Amino acid sequence: MNKIEHIGIAVKDFAVSIPLFETILNTPCYKTEEVSSEQVATAFFQQGETKIELLQSTTLDGVIAKYIDKKGEGMHHIAFLVDDIRAEMKRLEAAGFTLLNPEPKKGADNKLVCFLHPKGTNGVMVELCEEIR
Ligand code: ZN
Repeated sequence: MNKIEHIGIAVKDFAVSIPLFETILNTPCYKTEEVSSEQVATAFFQQGETKIELLQSTTLDGVIAKYIDKKGEGMHHIAFLVDDIRAEMKRLEAAGFTLLNPEPKKGADNKLVCFLHPKGTNGVMVELCEEIR
């Protein structure tokens, strides 16, 4: 795996959280993008080599809405950049980790993504992402 590509943070309301993170990071949000298949809207901030990705549910019962109901707002996942997502998925599955999606899927910000089940990763939701070339 390469560098940490981004850290995902679940939030209730972009109208509150985008200005909040613009102030914390002292950098503007450079992009918002909806991933309708995941019922989520994303907002990105570049911070050095890494990004912060805010996640807001677009429906009342989307995965992020459910997450916030259960755990509240806050850190949701850490995403690692990989060169070959299928090879990494194969490697991690062989090592006993549970993949949340058996095939890479199209995520935000021009990426193919796959998540590891947090039960096997000390409670940390891990995202693998590969830049779509
Ligand atoms: Zn992410």
